[in-house]
Amino acid sequence: MIRVVTLDEYDDKQLAKFSRTLYTAFGVGSEHSGSAELPAGFSEPLDSEKVLDQVKAVRAYKDDKVLYLTSRKLKERELPSGKAPTNGFSRFGKDKAIISSNPYKDLETGYKHVARLALHQLGHLWELHHCLDPRCSMYPPWTPSFAGGEPTFCTFCREKSEQKIRLAKS
Ligand SMILES: [Zn+2]
Ligand SMILES: [Zn+2]
Repeated sequence: MIRVVTLDEYDDKQLAKFSRTLYTAFGVGSEHSGSAELPAGFSEPLDSEKVLDQVKAVRAYKDDKVLYLTSRKLKERELPSGKAPTNGFSRFGKDKAIISSNPYKDLETGYKHVARLALHQLGHLWELHHCLDPRCSMYPPWTPSFAGGEPTFCTFCREKSEQKIRLAKS
């Protein structure tokens, strides 16, 4: 089950559509599991790792993946190659990820891009690596073409995620 937890206000209908997109992409149930408040001391741009460490846990079961959604900017990450602007963060193979819908004013405006970011970070939680197919959501998200693509996976990544999800259940 994918549990979407909002850290800011979003429209319910748009969240329902978002959950359906996640369900279609992964073939596992997805729902908006409520909202959470950031502990005191956080300011924009948000430090993604700190948010994942400190935000209140939601009720989740063993195989659940939790996706935090914020409209606030995320802090750039330091990579060996320099600073990378970031719209999302996840810990490979673990259970939590965060994405930002910034700079879009709501989910609908940036729908494909934000949904694609969600697939990408959730994909990492199910141990998917980056993919060379530009149409796939596992394509590197800092590339210029990423934002224009559809929130879908290539056949290889889709099959790999299905396999991981099946393994996690057994
Ligand atoms: Zn990635
Ligand atoms: Zn792929």
